[in-house]
Amino acid sequence: MSTTKRGGHDGPVGKAVLVCRDCDREAHVDGDWAVTEYELGGDRHRVYQCPDCWHTLVVQPVFEDGVPVPA
Ligand SMILES: [Zn+2]
Repeated sequence: MSTTKRGGHDGPVGKAVLVCRDCDREAHVDGDWAVTEYELGGDRHRVYQCPDCWHTLVVQPVFEDGVPVPA
């Protein structure tokens, strides 16, 4: 008898995972991406870049009162 049963626990999908379009690198948003912060027009922004090919993945505003930004 074969018991090839695929469980329904393949881990969280689509939750704060970034994928590089250029080299298909995939990692959690808190993973080893190159993160840079800069100020633009009085607002602080955070840039996530691929450490392999330096493709810019996402730019998101950072709030100074420390409230985490919902994805
Ligand atoms: Zn890349």
